[in-house]
Amino acid sequence: MGKQEEFVLRALEERDVRFVRLWFTDVLGSLKSVSVAPAELEGAFEEGIGFDGSAIEGFARVHESDMLAKPDPTTFQILPWRGETPSTARMFCDIAMPDGTASYADPRHVLKRALGRAADAGFTFYTHPEIEFFLLKGKPEPGTRPVPVDDSGYFDHTSQGIGQDFRREVITMLESMGISVEFSHHEGAPGQQEIDLRYADALSTADNIMTFRVVVREVALSDGIYASFMPKPFTEYPGSGMHTHMSLFEGDQNAFYEPGAEYHLSKVGRSFIAGILEHTPEITAVTNQWVNSYKRLIFGGEAPSYVSWGHNNRSALVRVPMYKPNKGPSARIEHRAIDSACNPYLAYALLLSAGLKGIEEGYELPREAEDDVWALTEHERRALGIAPLPRNLDEAIRTMEGSELVAETLGEHVFDFFLRNKRTEWHDYRSQVTQFEIDRMLPLL
Ligand code: GLN
Ligand code: MG
Ligand code: MG
Ligand code: MG
Repeated sequence: MGKQEEFVLRALEERDVRFVRLWFTDVLGSLKSVSVAPAELEGAFEEGIGFDGSAIEGFARVHESDMLAKPDPTTFQILPWRGETPSTARMFCDIAMPDGTASYADPRHVLKRALGRAADAGFTFYTHPEIEFFLLKGKPEPGTRPVPVDDSGYFDHTSQGIGQDFRREVITMLESMGISVEFSHHEGAPGQQEIDLRYADALSTADNIMTFRVVVREVALSDGIYASFMPKPFTEYPGSGMHTHMSLFEGDQNAFYEPGAEYHLSKVGRSFIAGILEHTPEITAVTNQWVNSYKRLIFGGEAPSYVSWGHNNRSALVRVPMYKPNKGPSARIEHRAIDSACNPYLAYALLLSAGLKGIEEGYELPREAEDDVWALTEHERRALGIAPLPRNLDEAIRTMEGSELVAETLGEHVFDFFLRNKRTEWHDYRSQVTQFEIDRMLPLL
């Protein structure tokens, strides 16, 4: 047994841990959890805990359903909302097949594979997400409208505001679990909050996002309110994005940074952006995976609708933030389409692969979009080579279907499952007669 595993076994005693939750994520990004007694952990480290993979969304076909969850000891943390003595801990797991090989269906493995390819090229991938979500007065009953907890707006300071105390409680819990938070504030819509995690390697970030969602939901429930990461719960307000800042490091050097270059952005950084721009339409079905995601990517609300990049241009898909001399030799880029309801492992694997492709193939960066791309006419956008993002889940699926990059990065199993699942979602959605149609058309027709 390694040092990390021994550390965990010792911590179990010292912290009076009664339950250990083993966490992993299904293909659509839902967290799964199985609780084991501390005495089982030695075996879990060695062989894994067996479970029925065919009952997990996207994992296995029935005839090959046996799978093993193997805890990653570096992710051991006490769950702060479950009390101190006795306490409850959690670890993220890697999923293995009965012969010990990594499961092709495990999103964490998909990301690890992509990170491995980056490592072969000498790169480490860092990400930091700005996570937006809504706080609602309660879980809406079917057929009723959600009600935000407040009517504040962007950066509002409200005395005794619910959002403020809520964010403070969430951040305190996250920090006690080793997850650092950089910023937090009220976002633009009533009830909408944003919390930004400090940058970390992409695997830790994806784990942290999964933990973040649990913490936010737990704190909301204990406050008697309801938290939602739905991309666009309100027609009249902006949706919830998960802008993600990205950079590549070579050793301890930021590979996107080049002093003296335009925006301090190196050739590697420029090609990475070019890769993202070229392949974003193919990966949008994953970064924005629900029918509702596309309601956010419509004309405005600071969410992009077109493939473009810009410097401090908030209508662009990729933004190169202002260079801050006090941050030293650093450069990063921000992807603004991805939303808060994606599977972060799969989405980050694809963003990385798209960027790496740009570097490998030496893609040239197109011209920067200086204008507000929403304000241009369709004709002007076409002349500038600014392509639209997929306009709905159907377009996104069709674009993904033909993508070698996505098939290779996700692996055949996840690729096929994902497309099948999303075609069903689109079919179910498209066959609905909506309230909009009744209200607008019934009186007329
Ligand atoms: N909520 C906006 C979106 O959906 C982003 C707003 C912002 O962070 N400036 O992307
Ligand atoms: Mg922000
Ligand atoms: Mg924001
Ligand atoms: Mg941002």
